Amino acid sequence: MNIHEYQAKSLLRDHGVPVSDGVAVTKAADAKNAAGQLDGPLWVVKAQIHAGGRGKGSFKEADAGDKGGVRLAKSVQEAAEEAKRMLGNTLVTHQTGPAGKQVNRIYIEDGSDIARELYLAILVDRATSRVGFVCSTEGGMDIEEVAAKTPAKILSFDIDPAAGYQPYHGRRVAFALGLEGAQVKQCVKLLANLYDLFVSKDMEMLEINPLVVTSSGDLKALDAKMGFDGNALYRHKDISELRDETEEDPKELAASKYDLNYIALDGEIGCMVNGAGLAMATMDIIKLYGAEPANFLDVGGGATKEKVTEAFKIITSDPNVKGILVNIFGGIMRCDVIAEGVVAAVKEVGLEVPLVVRLEGTNVEKGKEIINGSGLNVIAAHDLKDGAQKIVKAVKG
Ligand code: GDP
Ligand code: MG
Repeated sequence: MNIHEYQAKSLLRDHGVPVSDGVAVTKAADAKNAAGQLDGPLWVVKAQIHAGGRGKGSFKEADAGDKGGVRLAKSVQEAAEEAKRMLGNTLVTHQTGPAGKQVNRIYIEDGSDIARELYLAILVDRATSRVGFVCSTEGGMDIEEVAAKTPAKILSFDIDPAAGYQPYHGRRVAFALGLEGAQVKQCVKLLANLYDLFVSKDMEMLEINPLVVTSSGDLKALDAKMGFDGNALYRHKDISELRDETEEDPKELAASKYDLNYIALDGEIGCMVNGAGLAMATMDIIKLYGAEPANFLDVGGGATKEKVTEAFKIITSDPNVKGILVNIFGGIMRCDVIAEGVVAAVKEVGLEVPLVVRLEGTNVEKGKEIINGSGLNVIAAHDLKDGAQKIVKAVKG
């Protein structure tokens, strides 16, 4: 689960990480009052969406102006005007995709004088199975380009989970970032606080880009992105409350309510599969035969008919889906339950695209009987390869 910048900064502030003062607003009428609570003489007006690249983004609507989603203002009045221009309009960045995201909230911040923009992140490194710092002297809006063209400028440092964060980790990062004197001490403390926050809140990702050195020589987090492990949210009520469902893919949101493992993708073939490994194999084989999967969906082992129905409805609600492949290898999951779920969903929402069903395993005969007896227009497949070939043919002709 991701949260907004203004929420992440509030967590940082509470954990001793220096950030600017700021006020979030959802109505243009409140912007002037919000900006007036800050000292100036510079204000930063920031669109709050769950996507990065706002500074270099652009709005779809002309009345939003052409200055991107992060704007500097020299007066309270100007800050309020910029907030008004952005609110309700759609910001497109390289992370939102072409559809963009509607800006429902603006964060107005005290502007900082920047001497240097650095990059700092904490991630779970899957290769080493450890939490580590990633840093670069080349922070700011071009970090993707730095990673692509000069990857040697991005450094990582793992942390041994048994010993935890030690001051020498902080000094290493500080020297890698070219910090000097009192900044090194600040960095050691800042990283200790960040690491502690990361671990205690079960984060998956914490990115500060840019971490700046201000003109007075102090470190400050000017941007903040946080992602949390969904499986650990049950023990962080304070974090769960920060969830903004309007920022999430509606299909993924519906799936999470029914405890389905669903990820929306860009392709044209909807997949319903049991087991993550089989789901991956199904996506691979669809690609092998020349099409793209529209989603990853694992209905799990002990799914009920209702859960299967919901899963099927989520797939059919995606306008990109031009065909559906149901690929079930029944073990704990019974084929008849899948068949009942599919038939119930089609009765409810109809079926306007070709449907290929491959059933194997527990209660397979019962499952096939249910499908055949339902009068549904189903293309039967006898194995995974056959299923993938049939659905690709049905979609691509
Ligand atoms: P992003 O584009 O979504 O990553 O948004 P950021 O919060 O990182 O802001 C983008 C850029 O705006 C930063 O890299 C800075 O160059 C600039 N910026 C952000 N806050 C301030 C500020 O307080 N003062 C100044 N001068 N520039 C800022
Ligand atoms: Mg940024």
